Amino acid sequence: MRYTGLIENYRDRLPVDDSTHLISLGEGNTPLIRLENIPATLGKDVDIYVKYEGLNPTGSFKDRGMTMAVTKAVESGSKAIICASTGNTSASAAAYAARAGIKAFVLIPEGKIALGKLAQAMIHGAIIIQIKGNFDDGMRLVKEVADHAPVSIVNSINPYRLQGQKTAAFEIIEELGDAPDYHCLPVGNAGNISAHWMGYKEYFDDGKATNKPKMVGYQAAGAAPFIKGEMIDEPETIATAIRIGHPQSWDLAHTVEKESNGWFDALTDKEILAAQKLLTEKEGIFCEPASATSLAGAMRDIKSGKIPEGSKIVCTLTGHGLKDPDTAIAQCKDAMININPVMDEVRDAILDNM
Ligand SMILES: *Cc1c(COP(=O)(O)O)cnc(C)c1O
Repeated sequence: MRYTGLIENYRDRLPVDDSTHLISLGEGNTPLIRLENIPATLGKDVDIYVKYEGLNPTGSFKDRGMTMAVTKAVESGSKAIICASTGNTSASAAAYAARAGIKAFVLIPEGKIALGKLAQAMIHGAIIIQIKGNFDDGMRLVKEVADHAPVSIVNSINPYRLQGQKTAAFEIIEELGDAPDYHCLPVGNAGNISAHWMGYKEYFDDGKATNKPKMVGYQAAGAAPFIKGEMIDEPETIATAIRIGHPQSWDLAHTVEKESNGWFDALTDKEILAAQKLLTEKEGIFCEPASATSLAGAMRDIKSGKIPEGSKIVCTLTGHGLKDPDTAIAQCKDAMININPVMDEVRDAILDNM
């Protein structure tokens, strides 16, 4: 049967009925790729899989939640959606609003959006409201304005978002035959880690899995309220997708940590970029910086033994590397060889670099 998106695929586990008009772009069903080269570099016997969410229609996992949120907004008669965004939510909202024929208003922090995400929001025709402030300011404003204008909020405080996003856990269990031992994610607002835990619990309770993973959330060191134990006002990191100091799912995330026996930790920007590069060079998989935080953290905890040998680990790669071409290119300054258009010079370039 033709795959037509995650709502259709998990219809009986999502809040829709036969009369609901589905707003879908074929999201979900993303590859779960087993790493073949990186585990050996760690000198440990572990099985690492990456869930490549960058292959969703707009290039991030946000599409899983957005198909649900926009479907329900349209069902309730809404003519416009609104979100605050570090980039990917705005790209996704813009695309799904276009698909539904409704308006999208997106609040973004001035100058802190990766280029690809901005291009997406613009080309899909979203109304872009740039604020002299960060994501947390945008989120506060969106909550306030929703009482004064006819717009539906599609940030992850919208419970339909998490319903859509929980399906990633279903896919993983179906593919592995059971839940992994550890599931590592980058954490910003902590909606996604909470959604995954909902999905794992749901399948476990229904006998579709025999265990539940420990959930491990990794933040960027400059934007790590869960490690600090309190909200922070000036988050800073190159991983702009997780440049968040006031996470919206604060309580949910702590419940996940406790129930799953997992933990939170933080990685420096340097560690995050190193993991992004390692993944591209050793495995051929290109994710955006924030996404590499999951792998960077997993590698550190595998090396230290906190994640023991023999474990099966899934790392979510939340967004595609093409989202942030500037950061990628900045890491590769001396990768080009310039030549005249003659065969000898091409040959020399090859032989010098074998
Ligand atoms: C939104 C986003 C995150 C953070 O997800 P939360 O649900 O806010 O924790 C991480 N990585 C990327 C690429 C994102 O777009």
